[in-house]
Amino acid sequence: MFKFRSILFLSLLFFSLIFPQTDSHANTISHIVVAEDVVNVREGPGTNYTRITTVTMGQKFEVLTYKNEWYQIQLNATQSGWIAGWLVTPETSYKNAISLTKNLEVRSGASPKSSVIATLDKDQKVLVKREVSGWYEIVTSALTGWVYKDLLYSDTTVNNGKVDVYGSPSTRVATIGSLTNGTTITISKEINGWYYISSTGIQGWIYYSHLNNGSPNPPSSVTAEAIVLPSHLDVYSGASLRTTKIGSIAKDTKVNILTEINGWYEINSASINGWVYDGLLKTNIEVKGDFVNVYGAASTRVDTIGNLKKGDKLIITNEINGWYKFYNNQIEGWVYSDHVTNGSPNPIIISGTPAIVLPEKLPFYSGASLRTTLLGHILKDEPVTIVREINGWYEITLNQKNVWVYGGLLKSTIQSSNKIANVYGVPSTRGEVISNLQNELITVKKEINGWYYFTSDSKNGWVFSTHLIEGSPTPINVNGEKAIVLSNNLAVYSGASLRTTLVHTLSKDTPVNIIQEINGWYQIVYNNNLSGWVYGNLLKANSKVIGNYVDVYPSPTTRISPINTLNKGASFEITKEINGWYYIKSSNVTGWVFSSHVIEGSPAPVMIPAVVISSVSLRSGPGAEYSTVSSSIYKKQVYIKRQVGEWYLVSHGNNEGWLNVSTVQIITKPNTSLLGKVIVLDAGHGGVDPGAIGALLKLQEKALTLRTAKLLEEKLSGYGAIIVQTRTVDTYVELIDRARISNNNNADAFISIHYNSVWNSPTATGIETLYYNQSKDQALAQHLQSQLVSYSGLRDRGVKYQDVNVLRNNQRPAALVELGFLSNPVEEATVATNTYQEKITNAMVQGLLNYFNR
Ligand code: ZN
Repeated sequence: MFKFRSILFLSLLFFSLIFPQTDSHANTISHIVVAEDVVNVREGPGTNYTRITTVTMGQKFEVLTYKNEWYQIQLNATQSGWIAGWLVTPETSYKNAISLTKNLEVRSGASPKSSVIATLDKDQKVLVKREVSGWYEIVTSALTGWVYKDLLYSDTTVNNGKVDVYGSPSTRVATIGSLTNGTTITISKEINGWYYISSTGIQGWIYYSHLNNGSPNPPSSVTAEAIVLPSHLDVYSGASLRTTKIGSIAKDTKVNILTEINGWYEINSASINGWVYDGLLKTNIEVKGDFVNVYGAASTRVDTIGNLKKGDKLIITNEINGWYKFYNNQIEGWVYSDHVTNGSPNPIIISGTPAIVLPEKLPFYSGASLRTTLLGHILKDEPVTIVREINGWYEITLNQKNVWVYGGLLKSTIQSSNKIANVYGVPSTRGEVISNLQNELITVKKEINGWYYFTSDSKNGWVFSTHLIEGSPTPINVNGEKAIVLSNNLAVYSGASLRTTLVHTLSKDTPVNIIQEINGWYQIVYNNNLSGWVYGNLLKANSKVIGNYVDVYPSPTTRISPINTLNKGASFEITKEINGWYYIKSSNVTGWVFSSHVIEGSPAPVMIPAVVISSVSLRSGPGAEYSTVSSSIYKKQVYIKRQVGEWYLVSHGNNEGWLNVSTVQIITKPNTSLLGKVIVLDAGHGGVDPGAIGALLKLQEKALTLRTAKLLEEKLSGYGAIIVQTRTVDTYVELIDRARISNNNNADAFISIHYNSVWNSPTATGIETLYYNQSKDQALAQHLQSQLVSYSGLRDRGVKYQDVNVLRNNQRPAALVELGFLSNPVEEATVATNTYQEKITNAMVQGLLNYFNR
């Protein structure tokens, strides 16, 4: 999750830089003032363009356009040039505008996510400070904020030869005059496309189509083509995360952009139409460098396969780490995004990008120029944070100061490619492959000769740099262990988690290759080249015989004669599985063998712990007719391996055999002191004997004791204790019979459960435990009492000798617990709660664990 979120986050940042807010920005910057002593003016928007002239601090120029942080300025009557945006101060010119809609929302920022701070009335006058991607920063006498579109600039000019002015907003009324091309007008109202204007000598209504700059740009139907950049991009019904998510599109999917609203794109694609937030790369781009190398892969380490010149048009089809795969009518290959326009000037630099230093010593300067002060050197592999990049210079944060370096950095957070890359223990292919990478976010810590040492959430090691973007040269199936699918409709996921995308389902017996296994998840390759993750349910296909003499049958059953035999160690391949039978092929035998005779047949079998609750022995097969293969294993812990009909195949120590399911109790907490202990639980009273009656709620003791006994049984059973209840329903059981049940079952402990009551003393409170025979019973009583007091927090009334029937006649360790006073109205309400019942039953479990552990 975390991983995916950070990728998405990075890509969102990344793409906001891919689409710099360009031309609209210039709309409201009318002039710039030079802010440095001497500044170059160039032929184009970049330091690689030829210098035309220099200008000096304080000189003011009109702005023509704005591109990639550069302004095109009018130098003089005949000449224009480009000047770097960070060396000048822009001058903002406010424009008058009116609101086109009622209740136009004013937000604190230029985003639908910013809070609404006010609304505008229809035709309300505002001042527009600037416009960014359809958002207007506005000023009124009351506030400043942002509105999205629906504003109309009110100072404009007529752009038709002659425009009629009407007395009402309709052509059905008489004209009251006319305006000529170029006339300056001020709009103060709008109705259905009609503007109420005032100009020199006239006021009235004109129709909007006769104006320049009358309306802000209508939603553009640009239909730029683009591809999806992140691994998948969610599609929404509207331009907000609060609208419905209607689907998603995968990386490199081609889409058409219809509209863009502050980072949201309305798109259509082959599969879905809707809105996406960022994550797109416009595919029609132009080469901006004079000589741009084209590579056969997304790396400078492979051979160039051609080159491009300035102005060449390209269509992008893929993106990897800032490399674009493209084609045009001449060539297909990879270029680095820095060299093309429209993609981005600096697509992979984001504020706060972590990086490491690549050269042995990298000089750093006070500014983005060799002419600034050399401040020092940073050593190789030192981690730094990139603030921004300008023409190859990186502003970085180093010891909390911002300095500049030229090149020499490797961005250390990298998304590895979809292809599998081997990870080595040392920076060499001669080292051992210790894991692999596929579509994972890694952090590069060191670099040696093109090898990166990285860490990630789950692994670390060395990977060769080209493999991060190209995948590994190692064919994917080489390490694959053959397997077949054991269940029908086995779900294949994009990652080793149920939270990743379901990409496929596989039918039973489909052959696959296992690439790796992580916590029960298998990364597999199937249908020759598809890959994904499945949880369990695979059977490794290459196996061998472990039995000395294994029969091979023509069908998956022992009811017919075997057709062959295999000897211990014989290897074979499994191609099908039915109910534990494998259809196998070896060099000279095909047929069915039963799975218990082979090893490496299955991934770790499920082993369910259980306790044997009857005096029985293991049998050699799933039925009473089979011979016994062990002595009695009553009260012993076993592991259930599988079930056939009413029989479990279980293991006990080194033995294996079959037990009837009725003789086995599945447990959840194996290997405790309660395992195999016979506990008799005696729910006090019952039937005609209700026991104590509660003071306030009139609760009956007989019902409470049964409730406690049942809850306690449930808990003790999970620990492997064998529970006998003296009663399980509301019935009367003689006291002598209760003791007899304990004696007859040879109980390891007998607990009689009661709630207390005392005549005429409503404040009596607390828990006590009774015993009869000090040597036989007192330890049990003591262990129960101390935990009951500790868990319940009630008053400790102590462990007491008392001559009661169920204890006196009991030959086994026995105790009687009094779990609170029903005669106390407060305590009556307490003991009836689930919370209290949980506490006291947990207390008795712990008391018994301690007692049997002593
Ligand atoms: Zn009682």
